[in-house]
Amino acid sequence: MTKQLIPYGRQWIDSSDIKAVTKILHSGWITQGPTIETFEAKIAQKVSAKYAIAVSNGTAALHAACFAAGIGPGDEVIVPTLTFTASANCVLFCGGTPVLCDIDPITLAININEAEKKITKKTKAIIAVDFAGHSAEWDKLRLIAKKYNLILIDDAAHALGSKFKGEPIGSLADLTTFSFHPVKAITTGEGGMIVTNNKNYFEKMRLFRSHGIAKTANHPLWYQEMIEMGYNYRITDIQAGLGLSQFKKLDKFLNRRRKIAQEYIKAFGKIKEIVLPPNENWTLHAWHIFPIQFKSLDRNIIFDKLLKSGIKCQVHYLPIHLHPYYQKKLGCRKGDFPNAEKYFSRCLTIPLFPAMDKKMVDKVIREITKLAS
Ligand SMILES: *Cc1c(COP(=O)(O)O)cnc(C)c1O
Repeated sequence: MTKQLIPYGRQWIDSSDIKAVTKILHSGWITQGPTIETFEAKIAQKVSAKYAIAVSNGTAALHAACFAAGIGPGDEVIVPTLTFTASANCVLFCGGTPVLCDIDPITLAININEAEKKITKKTKAIIAVDFAGHSAEWDKLRLIAKKYNLILIDDAAHALGSKFKGEPIGSLADLTTFSFHPVKAITTGEGGMIVTNNKNYFEKMRLFRSHGIAKTANHPLWYQEMIEMGYNYRITDIQAGLGLSQFKKLDKFLNRRRKIAQEYIKAFGKIKEIVLPPNENWTLHAWHIFPIQFKSLDRNIIFDKLLKSGIKCQVHYLPIHLHPYYQKKLGCRKGDFPNAEKYFSRCLTIPLFPAMDKKMVDKVIREITKLAS
């Protein structure tokens, strides 16, 4: 029998999730039904936002947020280079130009001083990422946004359940996006959501999610017309049913993630070779991932050795400016963003997910301690 690998992240699906999905399948509504609104309302309430729009995935959520923000040709949007490509792709989807920016080596989120230097007359928005589930510095970002009249978008794919100085992620930017991919805090298979307090943004995104088509007043009942450009970015009721059932376990999942993270911090804090992930006291961490850095050891060798012992780590992320597409598109190259490159060359995301049992956690600690001390 081949031994089961321990992945860096994985969903938790139990019989209550299966029951919830089965119930939807029996209900007569499998898409565009009432469960979607219930799911949206739960998330909006959890993150203290007025409005929520569920969509087909986190990338569609970012696209919808950029659309709502009115990003278009000639607009620049500042994006940290250390993130998943979708955080910058969404600007290109709308015809805007992503302006990449280095990270802060402490928070691993956007470097705010550098971001401010990149602001021009064309800058319309900043997309910040709460990297690993540790919030970006939203107080400073909000000051800058106010000073230069910019829209703030929070790519919070890592950060459902995170807080900045006591305020929930989802209540701090003009638009905040979440992902429900299986490795994220809760899953709908594929899924995403945008939250906002702005009614105008909300209405634009509701159209955008469904072809830009709506029923309008003073027409026969069958009549619908296209008002905005839109896509089919809808989520299904089947997925929303799973999302609602997962949502009931969100706090349990977050607590388990925090507990495992504490065990890692206790074990690896003692090892001089290892740099722990950011954990400033002003954030309530969501611990989406646990990325460590090695001061002198070769990350790739450690990756291979851990894989051989049954632990499948990951690297988050190849910085955006090192992807061939972006080098061609934006003319960026190696050396442009030293903080992100240094982090990237040394980082390794080790397994962290709520379904990890004590045996798995102990094994990860044991194997890494063996290699790094
Ligand atoms: C997961 C993720 C996304 C995209 O979400 P999908 O649901 O996979 O489309 C975007 N940004 C970041 C930072 C992510 O981690």
